[in-house]
Amino acid sequence: LNTIAVLTSGGDAPGMNAAIRAVVRTAIYRGLKVKGIKKGYNGLLNEDIIDMEPRHVSDIIQKGGTVLGTARCLEFKRPEYQKKAADICRKHGIDGIVVIGGDGSYRGAQALSRQGINAVGIPGTIDLDIACTDYTIGFDTAVNTAMQAIDKVKDTSSSHERCSIIEVMGRHAGYIALWCGIANGAEDILLPENYDYNEQEIVNHIIESRKRGKIHHLIINAEGIGHSTSMAKRIEAATGVETRATILGYMQRGGSPTATDRYYASIMGARAVDIMLEGKTNRVVGYRYGEFTDFGIEEALMMQKDIDRYQYEVARMLTI
Ligand code: ADP
Repeated sequence: LNTIAVLTSGGDAPGMNAAIRAVVRTAIYRGLKVKGIKKGYNGLLNEDIIDMEPRHVSDIIQKGGTVLGTARCLEFKRPEYQKKAADICRKHGIDGIVVIGGDGSYRGAQALSRQGINAVGIPGTIDLDIACTDYTIGFDTAVNTAMQAIDKVKDTSSSHERCSIIEVMGRHAGYIALWCGIANGAEDILLPENYDYNEQEIVNHIIESRKRGKIHHLIINAEGIGHSTSMAKRIEAATGVETRATILGYMQRGGSPTATDRYYASIMGARAVDIMLEGKTNRVVGYRYGEFTDFGIEEALMMQKDIDRYQYEVARMLTI
């Protein structure tokens, strides 16, 4: 191993910069050369590749987003482009590539590894929806950002005795919704994992909890469920309780990463490089059962995870 490269792909997440910094500095510390690939697989196909030195990653650990830029690259799903990308890696002397991103990005990494380029993935997504790991870069920051925003909305909601529907990110996975549901004390949590929620039950719940003396009613709605504004109108009509929808949106994806995200991203970035130096190929870094570990990409992509039923039940129990 002589030269490695690093790229960020898919949706950006706070903490990706800490991972980039760790990859660059670990590699150089261990005597390797490092290149940065801009804008994900797009940048690789366009040969948007720069040399990285330790000072290039100065002063970025505290910044949200990704200094390398990220993109979605649909072409990369096609074998001819995967082959082209591997040829470009060989042309630039890149023997190994660290891909920071979600499941989709891992599939791209798997494709590169099939073309003979050693690829190692690092879990980067605010959605926490990567099965092989209990931690993904950006989740902690996103959930804290959402929690703080929801606290603010809840203040007004309580003062005016309103019902609030707050839509948080999570198109396919409800981890942000579940965590905020517990952390903000929401009365109802709507997750994409159990999409068959019953609006009449929510209406009944609001009416009952008014009777029990609750002055606000907070509903956390995951993005994957959507329709928060029209839901608010229907709920207001059915309950007579003033109901407002707030869609938090992209604010949840940005901002300075928490200590947890900086710390885990740094360890994972270093691990990705050290895994390659140990001679391992085509792996993804994970954190499971309290330890940093790694899995084969194929194995990682076959694993499944789902919202823990007990944790969901706790959220419901605690809102009586
Ligand atoms: P994430 O990595 O956050 O899951 P995406 O699903 O958008 O985000 O994937 C990011 C990029 O990874 C895609 O734009 C594409 O370039 C690449 N990718 C996704 N799926 C595949 C696939 N099946 N084969 C090759 N590359 C893929």
